[in-house]
Amino acid sequence: MKHNSVPTEIHSILIANRGEIAVRVMTTCRSMGIRTVAIASRNDERSPHALLADALYILGEGTQISETYLNQDAIIDIARKAKVDAIHPGYGFLSENRIFAERVRAEGFIFIGPPADCIESMGDKIAARRAAISAGVPIVPGYDDENQDVDVLKKEAARIGYPVLIKASAGGGGKGMRVVNDAKDFDQSLAQARGEAENAFGDSRVFLEKYLTHPRHIEVQVFSDTHGNHLHLFERECSIQRRHQKIVEETPSVALDDESRAWVTSRAVALAEAIGYEGAGTIEFIMDADPDSGKGDLYFLEMNTRLQVEHPVTECVTGLDLVRLQILVAQGFPIPFTQEEVKQNGHAIECRIYAEDPLRGHLPSTGILQAIGGVPMRNVRLDCGFADGQEVTAYYDPMIAKLIVWGPTRDEAIETMQRALRTYTFAGLKTNVRYLERILDVAAFREGKTFTNFLVSHERDLGMPPASDDDVALAIGAYLLCSGQSGSGSLHRAASSGKDLSTVWESSLLNGFRSA
Ligand code: ADP
Repeated sequence: MKHNSVPTEIHSILIANRGEIAVRVMTTCRSMGIRTVAIASRNDERSPHALLADALYILGEGTQISETYLNQDAIIDIARKAKVDAIHPGYGFLSENRIFAERVRAEGFIFIGPPADCIESMGDKIAARRAAISAGVPIVPGYDDENQDVDVLKKEAARIGYPVLIKASAGGGGKGMRVVNDAKDFDQSLAQARGEAENAFGDSRVFLEKYLTHPRHIEVQVFSDTHGNHLHLFERECSIQRRHQKIVEETPSVALDDESRAWVTSRAVALAEAIGYEGAGTIEFIMDADPDSGKGDLYFLEMNTRLQVEHPVTECVTGLDLVRLQILVAQGFPIPFTQEEVKQNGHAIECRIYAEDPLRGHLPSTGILQAIGGVPMRNVRLDCGFADGQEVTAYYDPMIAKLIVWGPTRDEAIETMQRALRTYTFAGLKTNVRYLERILDVAAFREGKTFTNFLVSHERDLGMPPASDDDVALAIGAYLLCSGQSGSGSLHRAASSGKDLSTVWESSLLNGFRSA
């Protein structure tokens, strides 16, 4: 029985997650001799994460994530029964939930993550922008005052100059975000952004940013301990995005030179220090890049107070195990190296593999993943949460695996990734593997001309036309039939109106969980 005194040594960890990230955390736990406890929904009980753990607890019979992986009461109850010392939240689900972090600690467990007030302040993008300014980190020009009056917002949009981006303060996963090119569209876009934000986060507050036309997404991995040490593990570039969601990430970024790298990493560390951060975090920046030189000024975008999906590329070039570091820091140990001792060695790339059909608007593909094929390759890592014969359902994020490669140079890493994409197969489901191969084939990618609009501007090279509304409507119908969902709400309305269906599809399906 736990008595609200938080342990300082970790002998056992409950991993409050599923899929590849749960497996990833368990792999490190094993290497550290830490007992692992898995939680799984009934339809995940044969998943690798459930089978790999030293102990498994089923989260009841429900299928909705609110009844399973988001069920705080059930998870804390299991932690008590399993007598664990700590809880690792992974990414997504409860990883950035302030209330959960507080509850975990109040119950006498170690929460492997930052203090709850850091989660809270960085989870609110308006508050995060303010914190960035105080720490001397430039933010994208825009408007983030309290006044949410339509006329005030519209006036501010005109002052900033179109195009502007409306963003939800509580935003994440691209929700509540709308680009407005012209004043005449402002009111409608604002209403849509607010509606989406209210639905997804119960908070309709928005702010405005200048919409950059050739941005690159560059982020810095930071690490802080409880002794006041704050350092960075260099940058990652994540500009290859589909609908503002990353699908290919790499490090180092070709857009940075020694000077800009030193600047951006020092700004990230300054912010971590200013907010009293602890653990692993990522500070995201957006580069207002010149289309010809591919370089430009960097501005703070947001901070993610958890481990990122793309952390493996940082592990490849630094040789560090980020989960091990998280566990050490959570036990109160200081970071076991200095900033000067961290080196960037070679180049690493990650491709996110999705069960989806690129020929039909990237609609999620569900069914039995019959066999994962491929042979072990030098400098290639496959982080996968699925096993042969397992069902990929529509209940969770459609990312089924991540391929990560390392090479001494960027060119060599690209070649290795191309070989890896040709080698690994995911039989039984439609995936984006061929699409990823084509991305890496595009000359502009090889030249490092990677802006966040890359997939749209190279649509022809990629040879994957966007789905017609008919295709999408048909697929939605088939999905609703198979999954037994009523199709009520926005998905159903959109299906009958025939408007921008794949966007509505994505936001309805993912139900608040999107790995970021
Ligand atoms: P979310 O948390 O919802 O994912 P972010 O603020 O992290 O939203 O932005 C996600 C992506 O949206 C960025 O990586 C970038 O591609 C795009 N984006 C964000 N802000 C801007 C901006 N001001 N101008 C152009 N693109 C932007």
